[in-house]
Amino acid sequence: MKTVSDQAIILSAMDYREADRIVTLFCRDLGKISALARGARRSRKRFGGALELFARLNVTLALKDNLSALGDCDIVTVHPRIRADFTAIAHASYACELAAALIPEHLPNQRLFRLLSAYLEHLDSGTAKPADRHFFEMNLLNILGYRPPLESCSGCGANLVDTGCLWNVDRCLCRDCAKGLPGERLGPAAVALLLTSLQTGRFGAASFSDVAGSEAGQFLDRFIGDLLPKPLKSLHFLRLSP
Ligand SMILES: [Zn+2]
Repeated sequence: MKTVSDQAIILSAMDYREADRIVTLFCRDLGKISALARGARRSRKRFGGALELFARLNVTLALKDNLSALGDCDIVTVHPRIRADFTAIAHASYACELAAALIPEHLPNQRLFRLLSAYLEHLDSGTAKPADRHFFEMNLLNILGYRPPLESCSGCGANLVDTGCLWNVDRCLCRDCAKGLPGERLGPAAVALLLTSLQTGRFGAASFSDVAGSEAGQFLDRFIGDLLPKPLKSLHFLRLSP
């Protein structure tokens, strides 16, 4: 058994047996790993308040194929301001659940680790805005190879920034090719803003009007929903938040 040190974000945590917890960690160097925190429920001393959702930690892990064992862990940050704000909790919970659902096990991805870390830092520093969620979602999809094909129409190649877009089953179509078809519609402004989200490189740089933000939200919820085997629990929670 190999013991390693890494930095990790807690994507999920659940009680296990009488005394333990199982956590899903997204590690900077090791990727997504499930680990058993032995005695975490019996003694707060062992892990302190570290094993909370979206906390960032320095950890040591005894690596095993299925369930690794969590050794020492030191808190880098628990993101205290997120924990004091219902809306920020909803956004951070959604980001972690989405990452847990889409990131493959044991596949290191430092770019994605930086994206999730930056989003949690951003949520911890101020107001949670829908535009930041869209920025996170677009960049997450892009890094994982699921980027929506918003540049040009799947039917005729037209520029979707000029025509707007309809997401129909698995295609992005222009206004002409989409005539009479059902699906999620994005106006030209929303298409442009989602594409800008992939280019700005930082949270808060792209701002959406209410209409473009609402269209982008519905489009991304549908697009991401189609990638997942079941809806995310936190999406319901997110919709309840102001
Ligand atoms: Zn077309």
